[in-house]
Amino acid sequence: MTTGLLAGVDVGGSKIAVRVTDGDLRMVGRLVVATAVGDPQAAVGQVADAIHTTLRAADRRPADLEAIGVGVPGRVDPEAGVVTLAVNLGWHGLALGPELGRRFGVPVAIENDVKAAAAGLFARGLAGGASDLAYLGIGTGISAGVVLDGRLHRGPRGLAGEVGHLVVTEDGPMCACGLRGCLEAVASGRGIAAIAEAEVAAGTPTALAPASTPASRTRRPVSAADVYAAAATGDPLAMRIVADAGRAIARAIHGLVMSYDVRSVVLGGGVTGAGEAFLAPVTAGLDLLRAASALAREALTHDIVHLLPPDADAGAWGAVVLARDAALPARVTAALAPATGRPVAAAEVRSP
Ligand SMILES: [Zn+2]
Repeated sequence: MTTGLLAGVDVGGSKIAVRVTDGDLRMVGRLVVATAVGDPQAAVGQVADAIHTTLRAADRRPADLEAIGVGVPGRVDPEAGVVTLAVNLGWHGLALGPELGRRFGVPVAIENDVKAAAAGLFARGLAGGASDLAYLGIGTGISAGVVLDGRLHRGPRGLAGEVGHLVVTEDGPMCACGLRGCLEAVASGRGIAAIAEAEVAAGTPTALAPASTPASRTRRPVSAADVYAAAATGDPLAMRIVADAGRAIARAIHGLVMSYDVRSVVLGGGVTGAGEAFLAPVTAGLDLLRAASALAREALTHDIVHLLPPDADAGAWGAVVLARDAALPARVTAALAPATGRPVAAAEVRSP
């Protein structure tokens, strides 16, 4: 057991979630605040303030902290603790780890948010306790974190699991990366919203289109949640969009299983908050693959996909686990060894 407290911080495009636990991951306090996008230095201060506020509310002091973990939506250099590029936050080359380390005087681990979430799911024994799993985060964008043999698989450039830019439909919509028909362009929150907006603008009949009144000029844009809600009520356009998204996600799940032989694919992120309306088209997409291929049937077992509940907080939990690993690599090494069947070097655990 660690003696101090662990702070996990999940930095998102719109909010910062903080979770403080004791060394055995028992909750001490939590907080969610809005994100300041754009000014990196202000953002460092905001993350620090959020940790201070959470500690104060739990009647604890910064001196009680043993380590901090931070998950960030973007590319990171975990060795240096630097956020290389987080487009949605406007962060470029931000030395978040060293900055927070200087302020709090404790080890700080930085990781991509989805990769951190995947490592956290494994460390907490979720997803059926599988030591080979993928976490597919479906929110504003899409990416996966892959845990193989109990270790987060990053790849030399940290690109492992960036399945949002797999091309799933050749003549699909343009993606921000420059390709056409990427998974992210078809099935992410931003992608679904953009497809719906384009159809509405083109005059496709749908409940998503506002009545042509002056008020419609100031209406808020269609969101992915709107599209899933409309699909659930039988709107034909919305049903087509979510069916396309479900098929694309099913192909990505198939791709993850065939690439890595993971025993579990966990789905989470904002878009999955639509629940059954989200999951049903994915299941239909998986069934199409299973019906067409004996190999796909063997690979895509019926217990392979897990949908996280909306309050799972996988990102913040992943960040807490990063903090735990940063605090006591030796303890984690001992804890991981039986699960992986071979020793894990402390350095590997510190920077998963
Ligand atoms: Zn792309």
